[in-house]
Parts: sequence; C-alpha cells; structure tokens
Amino acid sequence: MSSSPTAMTEIRSPERSTPGSPPPALPRLLAGIRPHGAMALEEHLALHGPLPLGRGGRRRQLRERAAMLIDEIERAGLLGRGGAAFPTATKMRAVADARGRAIVVANAAEGEPASLKDRTLLETLPHLVLDGAVIAAEAVGADEVIVCVCETAGQSVEAVEHAIAERSRSSELAAGSPKVRLATVPSHYVAGQESALVNYINGGAAKPTFTPPMPFEEGVKRRPTLVDNVETLAHVALIARHGAPWFRELGIPTQPGSTLITLCGPVTHPGVYEIEHGASLASLIEASGGTTARVRAALFGGYAGAWVGGDRLHGVALSKEHLAPHGATLGAGIVLLLSEEACPVAETARVARWMAGQSARQCGPCIHGLDALASTVEEIVGGIAHPKAMKRLEQLASLTARRGACAHPDGAVNLLLSAVEVFSSEFADHARHGPCESCSRRPELPLPERPVEDAGSRKARRA
Ligand code: SF4
Repeated sequence: MSSSPTAMTEIRSPERSTPGSPPPALPRLLAGIRPHGAMALEEHLALHGPLPLGRGGRRRQLRERAAMLIDEIERAGLLGRGGAAFPTATKMRAVADARGRAIVVANAAEGEPASLKDRTLLETLPHLVLDGAVIAAEAVGADEVIVCVCETAGQSVEAVEHAIAERSRSSELAAGSPKVRLATVPSHYVAGQESALVNYINGGAAKPTFTPPMPFEEGVKRRPTLVDNVETLAHVALIARHGAPWFRELGIPTQPGSTLITLCGPVTHPGVYEIEHGASLASLIEASGGTTARVRAALFGGYAGAWVGGDRLHGVALSKEHLAPHGATLGAGIVLLLSEEACPVAETARVARWMAGQSARQCGPCIHGLDALASTVEEIVGGIAHPKAMKRLEQLASLTARRGACAHPDGAVNLLLSAVEVFSSEFADHARHGPCESCSRRPELPLPERPVEDAGSRKARRA
C-alpha cells in the first residue's frame, strides 16, 4: 500500500479475575491484544475460557445443540462483517438444512486495499477466529474448516499455521473437532467473493462464478458450504460463550454489538479500532489521536462505497441506519478520510483505473465499461476530455452497473458516481482547466504498490 494503516496497539488487556468472564464493554474482540505477535492458545483460553461445545452424543442431541447455537446467533442479531451485513443465522440455517455434510470457509481474503481488520485479527487473535469457525462447523454439521488468507498477508498465514498446530497438540481441543486447514488465496479484489473462493478451493481460478447454485447449496467439493468472514466468526466465538443478551448490550437494535473499523487518512494513529455500532465518527477520530489536516470528505465502505462531504460529517454515526441517509454503508468496516490537500479528481482517477484492473474479465460490461469510465476520468483530470465528458460518465455508469456476474462493477460505479456528486465543482474545474496543483501531490488513497496482474487466474496452491 502507498499509505498503510497500522494495527491499533493502544488497547490494553482488561483486568480479569475469573478466566472466561464476559469482556467489559469494549474491547471485546480485541481484548488482550498484544502490540506484536499472536496470542498463544494457553493465554487465549485463560482470557476467554474453554471452547463452549458439547462433544459427542446421539444424532438427535447433535441436531438439537446445533439448532440452539443458531437460535442464539439469531437472537444476538449478528450481521456479517464481510461487507454485505447479511444475517449470520439465516446463512447458517440454510447450510444446516441443505443435504449433505457441510464445510465451513473462514474468509480472510480481504482484497479491499483500504481494509486491514481481517489480517489484524488473524495476526493477533487467531484462536478467537478458529473458535468461531469450529463453533460454526458444529452449528451447520460440518466436518471440515478451511481458513482462506490472502497470500500477501505473510504474518496472518504464519499465525494461522501456528495456531492450527497448537490446537492439534491440545487433546481437549483436537478430540472430535473438525479438520482445520489453511488455504492462501490470490491478492485480487474479487478473490474474496464467495463463489470465487469456492471455485478457487475447488481447483479453479479465484474468479466469481455464475450463480445458482449458491455456495450454501453446492460449494466446496459440491457440499453445502458456509462462507463467513473471519470477524463474523470471532463474534460467533464470543456469543457462544456469553450469550445473545450480552452481545446486545452494545450497538443499536438494528445492528447490535461491536465491529472492527479500519481508519485511514490524516489522523495521528491510522489503524484498526473496535467500536460499538452507532458510535460517532467524531469519537473514532478522537480515539485515533485526532486529525492531522483539514478533512475534505470521508469515504465509507472502501472502494465500493460512497463519499460524504466534509460539511456533512458533523454528527455522523457509524451504522447502516445512520449512514443510509448519506447513501453510504460501512461495508467491511472502512472509514477513509481525505485531506483538503489532496486532489479528489486525481485520486478518483487512480482508484477507477485500479478497479478496472481488478475485473475478473469474464463479463463484457465489466471489462469495457470500467475501462471506459477510468479513461474518461483520466481525460477529465488531464483537461483533455470531450466537453460532454460528465454526461458520458453518467451514460457509461448506467451501461456498466448491474450487468456483471458479481457486484464488482456496481461497487466501482457507485464510488465514481458518489465522487462526481460530492466533488462536482472539482470535476468541473478539471474538465475546464486541466490538472490542479494538488494533482502532482503524493496520493493519499491506499492502493497496492504493484498491481497484481491476473492473479485471480492462478490455480489453488494449498487447497
Ligand atoms: S462482473 Fe466483472 S469481476 Fe464480476 S465476474 Fe464479471 S468480469 Fe468478473
């Protein structure tokens, strides 16, 4: 990345008198996080208590326990943390009810350049994620868990490998547990999409496939497959221990609990923070040590998200409900601030070109539409655009969105249209007068330093 947020290290381990007692208000997921390295199994169990699973029993007992787990997740109101905010219990129930032995995929592909929360979680607290994956496996009747980590996230890969080895040496954890293994996936924006992950694990390319069948019906090895983000699974691990009422003590009724946010941009300590849903943007910025420059706008939800202008940020709260009137969502928990010093049109052109390069090149409107959109923005930045370039952007956007096999073009178009709306005067100035002084400044929005050409087409290495 050109500007990498760092993992938050200020959070201190809470004082505990009894192992496994419920974590205080916050931090929950990040309780006990160390400045460096992963929490060892022994320390993890001392902090959170034993894995709350019943072992063995007759088939009917197993089914009853599984149903109770899913009911508890439903009562907690847990929504997925991978970006779509889909109800976790609904997804689990669909897999549990499908025919055949299920498989759980823990998704840490994290192809979004502005997000660091999944790798932070795995690097620091791998056992919390593995607990959640094993509990989810019990809930859906799976005998196998595959943890998918981005191949460029070396520390996450090491931490997961080490954690799997630690658990295999624990007679208490190994007995009756599903088989857990690691798969590294290409660093590509669409590689973390559910059907792309399933296709990759099955030996194909890490590219989205046409659905149906959905992974819950026919996924890895053609078995019902639960694909859940790793942060979602970490919440499952805590809900199974402390219950739905505890989970709902934080957050708002429509979005209970806490969530991880990657905060980047002009703040003293960019990084990963745990907040409760509905917390104010101002409190997040304050926790990061405050801004280091005047803020022009904030991007919520990453590169498939939406901008909110600086004049509208006062009073903004971080939840689906509170961001909806601004046309934004938290997506995978991303808040990106842009300073007054940056050129929003040049930044949009860079991101639009990168997003065009991330097309899996399977659907015509996605390949050609995103490329044409990026070229038009580049022409606007350079002051060489056709006088009707702004109109052309709108036309291209409507020809590109909702015409792909996955949501990639929709997200890219969403971001572009939001930039055109929020930075309308800057776009008009560039179209008339060409580059501004800020165009040549060091870019602020994070992008991978070297584009990963066609990484999605590589075959599975470790699946
Ligand atoms: S819409 Fe784009 S990214 Fe999605 S499957 Fe089609 S070509 Fe690939």
